[in-house]
Amino acid sequence: MSAIFTESTHGKRRLCYIGYRYSLKRKNQNGSEYWICIKCQTTVTSYLNLSVIVREDHTHLPDETDKEVLEMRQNLKRKAIEESSPIDRIVEEAFRAINSQSQSNDFLNSFFF
Ligand SMILES: [Zn+2]
Repeated sequence: MSAIFTESTHGKRRLCYIGYRYSLKRKNQNGSEYWICIKCQTTVTSYLNLSVIVREDHTHLPDETDKEVLEMRQNLKRKAIEESSPIDRIVEEAFRAINSQSQSNDFLNSFFF
């Protein structure tokens, strides 16, 4: 599994790797980047070839929500192609569906990063 780079709603870069999410600490001279887990103090380094080195163990389980978000995004994309309806409306419907299922702001943020 390779690293997935995303952007949060506040324009901050995020790294998703094997169900864990990290926020950017600093960029190194050689192009690698230094990240810290958003839930604990575990740090990782990502490289230009998308490989990631994890230094310590997390104190918590991976965030399964990420997988759901990815699946949902793929489903949305498929739906947009199949129905050729405006993407705004599909997203709005999905947002309402999530809202009624889950009150987790974290989940919503990761959906609209
Ligand atoms: Zn962690």
